[in-house]
Amino acid sequence: MSARILVVEDEEKLARFVELELKHEGYEVRTQGSGRAALAEALAGTYDLILLDIMLPELNGLEVLRRLNKEKPTPVILLTARDAVMDKVSGLDAGAVDYVTKPFAIEELLARIRVALKLHPVNAPGGASGNAPAPVSEGQLLWGPLILDIPRHRVTMDGHEISLTNREFLMLQTLLENTDIVLSRDTLLEKVCGYEYVGETNVIDVYIRYLRSKIDDVFSVKMIRTVRGVGYVINAWES
Ligand code: CA
Repeated sequence: MSARILVVEDEEKLARFVELELKHEGYEVRTQGSGRAALAEALAGTYDLILLDIMLPELNGLEVLRRLNKEKPTPVILLTARDAVMDKVSGLDAGAVDYVTKPFAIEELLARIRVALKLHPVNAPGGASGNAPAPVSEGQLLWGPLILDIPRHRVTMDGHEISLTNREFLMLQTLLENTDIVLSRDTLLEKVCGYEYVGETNVIDVYIRYLRSKIDDVFSVKMIRTVRGVGYVINAWES
């Protein structure tokens, strides 16, 4: 299944160029040239990614982004004018996952697109539910895009499943149940290995390393913080 990308750009030549390049890469592409039409299209369709110019007729890109974000988690890469620092900052504040400065090399844009699609999969393969985020239910712990589902023993990041062993799961659950509280290795050891466990507390460091390799490294986040001489903590998610 090829990813669907909506290109929102009012400069027709540029829009056409990007469209052709993306199609050449195998993406399904549609284009829109006004903010209002783009918002309607984005809300009605099931896009995996939106490339959004900021300076647009009718409704500017930032406004499109704000309104879209209230309804859907579709990742957005902003196309900004050179040196428009304010645009970049307000764009990222408004929820864009990345921005590319015009004029850009097409290879750079393609690389940013690949990264955004990998990090923010909204339409899970085989899933027919469109862009709706998973509902939060009893027994779920949330950390931004990460959901730890206790009854189903399942962890997902942006809908992407993370495969954990029982002890890794228990460790992550314990840290998420105590966000902003630094837990010592002894506390974690009791939770994860049980009171009867006899052995080195540095087994905890090993599990932390596994968790980081499966979460932090894969999704480019800094989830579990080391507090030197004390232990580990997951701080509450700040978007
Ligand atoms: Ca424009």
